[in-house]
Amino acid sequence: MKLSKKLTMSFIFSIILSIFIISLISNSMINRKFESFLVKERENRFEQIRKDINDLYLKNSYTLSQRDIANYASLEGVYIEIKDSNNQTQCHSSKGQNMGMHRKMMNNGHMRMMQNISAGNYLERSFPLLDGKNIVGTLIIGYIDNSYLTESALIFKNTLTKSFMVSGIITIILGFGISILLSKGLTNPLVNIRNTAIEMRKGNLEYRSKVNTSTTEILELSDSINFLGETLASQANIRKRYATDIAHELRTPLTTLKSHLEAIIDGVWEPSEKHFSILMEEVERLSDLVEDLKNSFNAEEVKINTKKTQFNISAELEKIIIAFIPLYNEKNFSIDYSLEENIEIFMDKDKFRQIIYNLLSNSIKYLKENGIVFISLKKHEEKVVIKIKDNGIGIKKEDLPFIFERFYRSDISRNKETGGTGLGLSIVKSLVEAHNGIVEVQSEYNKGTEFTIVLPIEY
Ligand code: ADP
Repeated sequence: MKLSKKLTMSFIFSIILSIFIISLISNSMINRKFESFLVKERENRFEQIRKDINDLYLKNSYTLSQRDIANYASLEGVYIEIKDSNNQTQCHSSKGQNMGMHRKMMNNGHMRMMQNISAGNYLERSFPLLDGKNIVGTLIIGYIDNSYLTESALIFKNTLTKSFMVSGIITIILGFGISILLSKGLTNPLVNIRNTAIEMRKGNLEYRSKVNTSTTEILELSDSINFLGETLASQANIRKRYATDIAHELRTPLTTLKSHLEAIIDGVWEPSEKHFSILMEEVERLSDLVEDLKNSFNAEEVKINTKKTQFNISAELEKIIIAFIPLYNEKNFSIDYSLEENIEIFMDKDKFRQIIYNLLSNSIKYLKENGIVFISLKKHEEKVVIKIKDNGIGIKKEDLPFIFERFYRSDISRNKETGGTGLGLSIVKSLVEAHNGIVEVQSEYNKGTEFTIVLPIEY
């Protein structure tokens, strides 16, 4: 069912329900008040009749004839009977005559609705006729219960019901209009957001939803779908760039391999050990690249694949450094370290090794003559701080913001033919962030570089 139809229907339903409940409650309340008012009125009337008859009775020396009371009874629409002090009926009006008035009302076309109501029971009430304080007779008034009430109450009730019906119809018409406006105000922006989602599904990721509404939730929904579009578009861009970067990176070693192999086939190059080892180097570079690519997923993906254990990070770091010493010595570089002992950490050990391995490999690649690398490890407020500082070639200011991006390599690095892939630091960043840590760099061109890694002891 469409939202607008649903809203309109619920709106109309609640209007009808409230009118029904209001009319029911007010009808019964007014009825009660009205009836008690009319009963009081009747009592006053009977008291008046009693007074009039009493005066007449005293004036006529305790004797009244049918003639005296007939007109009076007929006028008042009641039955009147007078009994003397011995309780003997002195006179009475005709019952038929009194009831006739009631019947006359019943037959009146104007009062036709009264026929739906029972005429009520015939009742009699007796009142003492007094001379001073002495009871000198009895007055009996016969009437049809409800006969007065029904007449006035019904007119009133009918008017009330009519007014409720008229106001009900007006409210329903107004409500219908308001609900259409209201539901339009809600559904129009929703339709707009739905169309945006459809466009995005079709691949049109630049399409944005524009809604004109003051409803917070709808505004938020529209913002969310726009944000989703932006994220999807930027991810699509990243994927595209990633694919071109990979293709570009793979092309260089493959072209070299191809040209060397062609040279061997054409007999330009002898198939000697020297030439094969050049080919081998290119193959190794390719396999390094593939290995790096495998690890260059983003932090969220790494997080899923971490196997955390508790281990002594001081001992582990020292082991890695010791393993690197021969590589530094080979190139006449030196490596020094100062590690706070026995710091325990809870993280993925292999990932930690890879972080340090990548940073130390970089420092070897980018050191100059008399190169020194200094590594420190400290514990600071439930965090482990590792610094790797070198006095190498440094990084130019303009390169600094990009070095953690995939495939980013400075011109110097490219020219130096370090054999780097431009993935090392992006992998370091992903791994550190996957452990809720941060990695920072400080560098001065031609002077040296310092990487700082902060890892929470437990996350
Ligand atoms: P690469 O495989 O090129 O080393 P990385 O992602 O490891 O890729 O590093 C990105 C770039 O950051 C490098 O090309 C280099 O320019 C710079 N870089 C990284 N480490 C250092 C360092 N210790 N000294 C100087 N430059 C560095």
